[in-house]
Amino acid sequence: MPGQENTDKFDKAKARMLKRDLMGRGITNEQVLKAMAEVPREEFVPESYLSQAYSDGPLPIGMGQTISQPYIVALMTQELWVGPYCEVLEIGTGSGYQTAVLSKLAKKVYTVERFTELSKSAQMVLGRLGICNVEFDVSDGSCGWPESRLPSSGCFDRIMITAAVPQIPKPLLSQLANGGFLVGPVGYGGAQELIVCEKRQDKLIERVICDVRFVKLLGKHGFAQ
Ligand code: SAH
Repeated sequence: MPGQENTDKFDKAKARMLKRDLMGRGITNEQVLKAMAEVPREEFVPESYLSQAYSDGPLPIGMGQTISQPYIVALMTQELWVGPYCEVLEIGTGSGYQTAVLSKLAKKVYTVERFTELSKSAQMVLGRLGICNVEFDVSDGSCGWPESRLPSSGCFDRIMITAAVPQIPKPLLSQLANGGFLVGPVGYGGAQELIVCEKRQDKLIERVICDVRFVKLLGKHGFAQ
């Protein structure tokens, strides 16, 4: 449990992050900023990196994976237009930080992770924070959410992929509702393009937002290694 002195330090660092790294770089959506203000990033980073909890960069979370940079979390969330009626699928739970931000905006978040250890640790942190509109699964998220546990509509209003894919996995496209949005990093090599897609009458309208650098999504419809 952080002491009062630490809490003040984190509050100050978070205020700086919101102003300089998010608002200062074009994050304007009030709901997204509120969600980012509500979620304590210090709860999601390993103890040895606590002093960098609000620095605008990715940090290691174990298993060779990283918690994404706050600006990228905010940007991807803003581009997804998540409303309180939305059922959101997230591929790549990781630390659970992005999951927590989405949970503040959505009706429900469904999140998939391939490492049991990361999923378990994310479940514990979200539980501690009293977040209960999230369902977890440990499997290959490139194949989508398990059919037997889909929301009653049979699909998702929004999908976020938080690891790089060579192309958008087909199973994810078929689990996206018509009129829904998907955001994620697409491309080979070290850098990818962050893409937003809107599904209209079973066709995709794509827009490139910026260049990004993510760890790979390993799986049947992701990278082989
Ligand atoms: N949103 C996370 C970032 C996680 S990094 C955060 O804020 O912490 C990407 C995550 O995707 C990693 O945890 C990695 O293990 C996971 N991942 C990679 N391939 C996957 C797959 N096929 N299915 C599910 N998760 C996968």
